[in-house]
Amino acid sequence: MTRKFDDSRLVIASHNAGKVREIADLLSPFAVSVQSAGDLGLPEPEETGATFAENAILKARASAEGSGQVALADDSGFSVAALGGAPGIHAARFAERADGVRDFDWAMEQLHEASAEAADDQAWFTCALALAWPDGHVEVFEGRVEGTLAWPPRGDRGFGYDPIFVPRGSTQTFAEMEPDAKHAISHRAIAFAALIDACFKPAE
Ligand code: IMP
Repeated sequence: MTRKFDDSRLVIASHNAGKVREIADLLSPFAVSVQSAGDLGLPEPEETGATFAENAILKARASAEGSGQVALADDSGFSVAALGGAPGIHAARFAERADGVRDFDWAMEQLHEASAEAADDQAWFTCALALAWPDGHVEVFEGRVEGTLAWPPRGDRGFGYDPIFVPRGSTQTFAEMEPDAKHAISHRAIAFAALIDACFKPAE
């Protein structure tokens, strides 16, 4: 049976400021005080999983065990159809240059150069959310949003690969949209809606 979240505090198991901000926004209608794994000085586990869900579980369990509180982790990524779904679960690492610095302008350029000749311009974001309790119990939810690649990058909102992604049904990139508009349709919002439905709403 699905376990309900009935605490007043939640740890966001991420050190990524963009993600922490979006998750805190999505949680704002609920009476939950949030702290990030970064704020609590919790270590970041190695993301050794083969899927978004496995990596989200790794991160959520590490923060739940480290803090003694319920923890929510997001593992997400960007996939380009012409590249066989790459960078996918490696989206964050893909943005690291040889000197180790994360540079999304450079990473977007790499994706554009690798896929520019292809006829297929489809792309998608995937998000797995894992909610873990200190006793090891975990609930997992996934969301995906489909769209097309844009070039050159447009917009300065959001984070990561948002400036080169136009969700289906829109003319704007995620980085041009108001945050509320992105939160209404994003991969994270879809996974989040499933999480809220299963774990935050009282049983009917
Ligand atoms: P990870 O889940 O920490 O492995 O990193 C996910 C990576 O995917 C982020 O660093 C971004 O590069 C990318 N990503 C995930 N969600 C989004 C999004 O909503 N917008 C833009 N990039 C994203």
